[in-house]
Amino acid sequence: MASREYNIVVLGAGGVGKSAVTVQFVQGIFLNSYDPTIEDSYRRQMDVDGRSCTLEILDTAGVEQFTAMRELYIKNGQGFLLVYSVTDRSSLQELIKLREQVCRIKDNQHVPIVLVGNKADLGHARTVSFQEAKNLAHNWGTSSFYETSARTAAHIDDVFADIVRQIQKRESAAAA
Ligand code: GDP
Ligand code: MG
Repeated sequence: MASREYNIVVLGAGGVGKSAVTVQFVQGIFLNSYDPTIEDSYRRQMDVDGRSCTLEILDTAGVEQFTAMRELYIKNGQGFLLVYSVTDRSSLQELIKLREQVCRIKDNQHVPIVLVGNKADLGHARTVSFQEAKNLAHNWGTSSFYETSARTAAHIDDVFADIVRQIQKRESAAAA
């Protein structure tokens, strides 16, 4: 059977590890360097619950300004990874506005979203607790929250499998 395609968009403040998470998932390597301007799309095949899925992942650049481009790729996206860094409180705050924008553009309060707290390997520099972010996800009506590390690859695959499952669930609900 042909592999189904899923359009996933990675959003979040600059420097939280959007590119590193994406590249760790797609290529299995840790990106040490930081280029805030990179905006690129990647593909990877993944089996989710025994089904072959092709993930088309858009790694976006800074959320600093709200551009027409951003509006367009949010429109085209089916699932969204909202990434902050556990070492940067403001990056979590940023996601509150970002989620509102996504829901407004999709005209839906139940868009497939995973909340991703990256840089979990930097425990000594943590400023956002696990529970606090979990509560935010709960307020959004979701339990899809993971702390990840692009450096160690912890929970990276879980994040992508979760978003695929959410998209599949939405589609089967729409078809019913
Ligand atoms: P982006 O602007 O959100 O795409 O951020 P990048 O992926 O470019 O990452 C910004 C910087 O943080 C880079 O120097 C990365 O190597 C580093 N970084 C990203 N993820 C992690 C992580 O999980 N752990 C650690 N220790 N550093 C990370
Ligand atoms: Mg980047």
